[in-house]
Amino acid sequence: MKEKVIIVGAGLGGLATGLRLAKEGYEVEFLEKNDKAGGRLNQIKKDGFTFDTGPSFFSMSYIFKEFAEKCGLRLPFEFIELDPLYSVNFSGEDKTYFLYKDIHKLAKQFQDVEPDFEQKMEKYLQKSAQLFNDTVDIVIKRNFDSYLDYFLALIKVNPVHLPILFKTFWEHVNDYFTSKEAREIISLVAFFLGRTPFDTMGIYSLLSHVEFRHDGYYNVKGGMYKIVEGMLEELSKLDVKFHYETEIVDYHAENQQIVSLKDAQGNFWKANKFVINADAALFRSEVMKYKKFSEEKLDKMEWTMGYLTFYLGLKCKLPQVNHHNYFLGSNYEQYASNILQNPSTLEKPYYYVNVVSKYNPECAPEGCESLFFVCPVPNLKYKADWSDRDKIVNSIIDDFSQRIKKDISTEIISKTIFTPQEWQDKFSLYRGSGLGLSHKFTQIGAFRPKNHDEKHDNLFYVGASTIPGAGLPMAVISAELVVERILANSR
Ligand SMILES: Cc1cc2nc3c(=O)[nH]c(=O)nc-3n(C[C@H](O)[C@H](O)[C@H](O)COP(=O)(O)OP(=O)(O)OC[C@H]3O[C@@H](n4cnc5c(N)ncnc54)[C@H](O)[C@@H]3O)c2cc1C
Repeated sequence: MKEKVIIVGAGLGGLATGLRLAKEGYEVEFLEKNDKAGGRLNQIKKDGFTFDTGPSFFSMSYIFKEFAEKCGLRLPFEFIELDPLYSVNFSGEDKTYFLYKDIHKLAKQFQDVEPDFEQKMEKYLQKSAQLFNDTVDIVIKRNFDSYLDYFLALIKVNPVHLPILFKTFWEHVNDYFTSKEAREIISLVAFFLGRTPFDTMGIYSLLSHVEFRHDGYYNVKGGMYKIVEGMLEELSKLDVKFHYETEIVDYHAENQQIVSLKDAQGNFWKANKFVINADAALFRSEVMKYKKFSEEKLDKMEWTMGYLTFYLGLKCKLPQVNHHNYFLGSNYEQYASNILQNPSTLEKPYYYVNVVSKYNPECAPEGCESLFFVCPVPNLKYKADWSDRDKIVNSIIDDFSQRIKKDISTEIISKTIFTPQEWQDKFSLYRGSGLGLSHKFTQIGAFRPKNHDEKHDNLFYVGASTIPGAGLPMAVISAELVVERILANSR
């Protein structure tokens, strides 16, 4: 008889796990608290517009291809490589930097501020490549059974990298570049891990290799939600069942085995194995009630920043705006260094704008544009009251209008705002922290909440707050790692 697996949460990590397990012959059933799949990789359809809610591009496209091969499938969605990767504009300046993967072309834009940029960037990227090549397979793509196992893996990492363990991303970048422009632009990628260059370890400068050299960034044709739709189609061919608006709140266990999970309506769900795609730390706290994950302990852990995201439908086109854009202010260093704790300022010297309708015309009515804004903000621990959200959003709209020399405030015909409060309530993210647990040394590898439960042998975890970490390719690797555990556990 087929073993039955219940997966709690239909985010990317859950969907990828479900697809792999169904292909391996398991009977798979999903329980999802929302009314549709995707988790943070979601979609808003409103007033004739379509918006991606969270992720707008991703790296390491080969992880998706390897995943599809393992499932014996052709990828059920189409990638589009980005070059330039994105653009960056500083406030008060007309100049826009385009982040080309061709370093010679990129360097020409820095001639005025850092004339030897090209040589410096080559040297910096060589170091990033070494860091990537010497760590990724050893540390990211594997399960660890004990701390000893983890330390044995770490000591295999080339000792030449030791000094960087004691530097922040910002300090490391400053070792290579002198101009404010180069330092700020090159260190931007640290924000993609949900913290700032000032509190992210220098070792993550390996991400610069990922963006410029290794594989770059990709979009999905038709919008990022096509990833979810493609996976759902494959899952339906395998008779996988989905139960939406079903939130798990409790469990019943016997002899260190979970027998059933209980939903908020009082229904019990039985299976042989259970995989949790909800946040691995929060679920252990709220549902499993483990002391090691008490409210107090969660509060002491380091969580990523919150995101203020908003989605605008405009009744005009914006030909002057690129597809992926970063807008930086003039006090980046001062602001970014205390962004997590500083709820008071309205000034937002860092925000990202994505024009999804630029290359996906089906995402907006004719003559209109779909815009998605992301602004890093303190999570609910540091700013619990978001009653000023409209004021903040309007200040960003004003700033954006000035920079693109067009007042968009009179063109808005659709507007949706998610503060960290909405991110928390909709997707059960701890204090609205956008990417889950941060990636500091004591919260990665064997120190991150494990993907196999410490007390119940048939309970597993997948997704951003277990190994290896945040981001779409990591969610797919996380699925591979938990599937490896489940297959071993079934033998
Ligand atoms: C604003 C924003 C922008 C981002 N941009 C990018 C980007 O450009 N590129 C990139 O690679 N990554 C990006 N990310 C990160 C990326 O979205 C996540 O790392 C990834 O989607 C996480 O997937 P997951 O499988 O861990 O879980 P999630 O997507 O969080 O899914 C978990 C699911 O579990 C459900 N759930 C939770 N609790 C329960 C319960 N008790 N019962 C039932 N269901 C439950 C939730 O509703 C959810 O559907 C971004 C994230 C945010 C917030």
